[in-house]
Amino acid sequence: MAKQAKTAIQPTRSEDFPEWYQQVIKGADLAENSETRGCMIIKPWGYALWENIQQQLDKYFKQTGHQNAYFPLLIPLSHFEKEAECAEGFATECAVVTHHRLEAIKQDDGTTKMEPAGKLTEPYVIRPTSETIIGAAFSRWTESYRDLPLLINQWANVMRWEMRTRMFLRTAEFLWQEGHTAHETKQEALDETRQMHAIYEKFLREHLAIPTIPGEKSEAERFPGADMTLTVEAMVQDKKAIQAGTSHFLGQNFSKVQDISFTGRDGSTQHAWTTSWGVSTRLIGTLIMAHSDDDGLIMPPRVASQQIVIIPVTPKEDTRDAVIDACEALAQTLRSKDFHGEPLRVLVDKRDIRGKKWEWVKKGAPIRIEIGPRDLESRKVCLQRRDQPSNEKAFLAKEEFLQNVESTLQEIQDTLLERAATFRDANTQDCSDPATFEKHWSCESPGWLVTPWAGTTEEEETLSKKHKIAIRCLPLDQQDGEESPCILTGKPTKTRAIWGRSY
Ligand code: AMP
Repeated sequence: MAKQAKTAIQPTRSEDFPEWYQQVIKGADLAENSETRGCMIIKPWGYALWENIQQQLDKYFKQTGHQNAYFPLLIPLSHFEKEAECAEGFATECAVVTHHRLEAIKQDDGTTKMEPAGKLTEPYVIRPTSETIIGAAFSRWTESYRDLPLLINQWANVMRWEMRTRMFLRTAEFLWQEGHTAHETKQEALDETRQMHAIYEKFLREHLAIPTIPGEKSEAERFPGADMTLTVEAMVQDKKAIQAGTSHFLGQNFSKVQDISFTGRDGSTQHAWTTSWGVSTRLIGTLIMAHSDDDGLIMPPRVASQQIVIIPVTPKEDTRDAVIDACEALAQTLRSKDFHGEPLRVLVDKRDIRGKKWEWVKKGAPIRIEIGPRDLESRKVCLQRRDQPSNEKAFLAKEEFLQNVESTLQEIQDTLLERAATFRDANTQDCSDPATFEKHWSCESPGWLVTPWAGTTEEEETLSKKHKIAIRCLPLDQQDGEESPCILTGKPTKTRAIWGRSY
């Protein structure tokens, strides 16, 4: 029998991180590239992860008073002409529908060629985001202050014609949620922007086990048309940053061009204050890069496609049925338990094939249980945890395993969060010395630097280009410290910026 390779995934993270990432996705059977440029096929194991993310986030949205709705995929071009700033921001990434049918044209060689026909008088833009079309609806829905706030969320696909795509992290079509809200006062809209930002931070930390730095984007990195963009920035294992989610305060910019106006309490006509906020399937890419190892995917239990995989070990035909029955019975008992309010997700892998264990290692199931004929007699199970080395096994009495299963899952969840936080903190340094700052970016995978910052947008862009970095955010909890000289201009400032390379 061929010896198991040293690592289940090759290359390893340290050999070639981007290629390792692709191989983890392939090994876990999460997704694959498709024949459509920049677009991926999300396979069942990956889609189950997305469904869990979706359902759990949706609960937080509903708890905070939001309702789901659905708006058209195609947006009339004229909507974009009205809202110039946002439209210009997305102009280079827009796919446009210009025809409404196909015409079959017979060729001389007997083949048929299909050509677009029926040119539209007004083209449609495939939504890169839905501020314009939702704003137009909001304009019709708001007459009086009594109609506010409008708290709407949409689960949808969007399209941005990205030049350099990478599965989950940056695809041309992606799945996301986009929240859109309209408020009577500026303060309410600011509170909403911050509330959703805080929900994203909590969701990433508690559900995805990813610690993020919550902060504000600099002007250069702000969403087109926004007065303020809040972001949650995650560090992944090659020390790059990923913008995992954003919440935008749009001021009255959109409501003025889209006429989202209402009669106020004093009888005057006023413009609403609006927000938008979104996270996408990029969360899955972030999760993969944050937690997985050289043996493949590691899924945090709270969102794992399956939390426990039970593998019957059936060396002999005469005990086979008994082993499988015991596995099924154990699965049933487990499914009647819950973890954070959801029934445990348990799968019994009855397939009669070799190498099942490594398949589930690569697929990142948090707990693997093996049960064989001898375990039936001794009433034991063999437990393996995905957060521990692949060869580590614990033999537990079945009752003991059942009693502690929720706490074991929580331990795995906590271990992943702690590991990611330790890694992030070890690779983030304060820096106030310009020479150290310059030198820092010359190594292959530099971590983040936190610096005093008082530069202009132009100065930021110059530095960004020179070192292939960006201000990831101005971290919210570090803006009240002491004044120190800006890393570039030397001007005294309290503002701190986090710099890093990113995906
Ligand atoms: P935005 O509307 O640009 O603020 O995007 C909202 C969120 O969607 C961002 O914070 C990203 O996490 C994510 N996102 C943006 N572009 C892409 C893309 N091409 N593929 C996947 N996710 C994306």
